Amino acid sequence: EAKQHGRNGFAFFNAQMREQAEHRMTLLKDLRVALAQQQFALYYQPIVKMTDQSIVKAEALIRWLHPDKGIVSPALFIPLAEETQLIHGMGEFIFNSACETLCTLNQLGHQVQLSINVSPVQFTAKHSTLNNWHQQLNAKGLTAEQFVIEITEGLMMNALPRTQQRLAALTKQGFALALDDFGTGYSSLAYLKQMDTDFIKIDKRFVDGIANSADDLALCEAMIMMAHQLGLKVIAEGIETATQHQLLLQAGCDFGQGFYYAKPMPKDSFIKLLNKYLKER
Ligand code: C2E
Ligand code: MG
Ligand code: MG
Ligand code: MG
Repeated sequence: EAKQHGRNGFAFFNAQMREQAEHRMTLLKDLRVALAQQQFALYYQPIVKMTDQSIVKAEALIRWLHPDKGIVSPALFIPLAEETQLIHGMGEFIFNSACETLCTLNQLGHQVQLSINVSPVQFTAKHSTLNNWHQQLNAKGLTAEQFVIEITEGLMMNALPRTQQRLAALTKQGFALALDDFGTGYSSLAYLKQMDTDFIKIDKRFVDGIANSADDLALCEAMIMMAHQLGLKVIAEGIETATQHQLLLQAGCDFGQGFYYAKPMPKDSFIKLLNKYLKER
């Protein structure tokens, strides 16, 4: 490999680095404009009860509706937003949109809990708008119990006192707490329980293998059993097939999320889906 690049190896590397830096600068500039012009939208992915596949929750997932590039995945811009503190403004947009959607759902008589992803940066920053959420809810006629806050294992494990205080305040106010991408880090279930966690979300990479790998199935079964012993409920992520659904149902998993049930969709489509489902019942 190195030999192939020969004497130009160094120059090649530099050009690539410059390209990456330029790409980053362009993206950052676009991102600032996007925030100012409100080019973002929340999509909603249903979360179903395993036993009857009824829609009881949904996860709000941010999308960037880029004027030229179309829909940009959060995996491409969340990390940059986190590095540049733009995540705070974005976090407020996410919270406000989720509140609006909950108001609509309440008016229509749909009892659905909404999950929102909160970045670790929102917890660790010295000044965080998280502190005002509960107050904002009161003004909007909403209750904290209608929200699930999704955080990642990394945040729990290296939690600063400030983060711990914020988590404790939110759970005390009634926000439910879910640990996202569970199984990919090193958190102990006992610690999660102590932090007043309500749900663990088993990561897609475990769900992917359960139909073909006895080990993956055993891992999922063990996570579900341990979670239940501690009084936590389990949401399995990334369920794509009927077989995966069946295996997780048999394993006692409480809730499921994945393309097998529905993909993330715009607010209007999600509301239409709920209305249709209400009529059919
Ligand atoms: P996540 O929170 O673990 O979200 C689940 C991701 O899995 C979503 O990707 C969802 O579209 C995808 N997914 C769900 N079911 C399936 C399935 O059956 N098959 C496949 N292949 N994928 C499935 P998405 O929306 O691209 O989001 C990626 C990540 O970006 C999220 O992972 C989350 O970490 C972050 N993210 C998304 N929205 C937000 C947000 O509003 N705020 C923050 N801070 N992070 C967000
Ligand atoms: Mg999530
Ligand atoms: Mg709680
Ligand atoms: Mg996840």
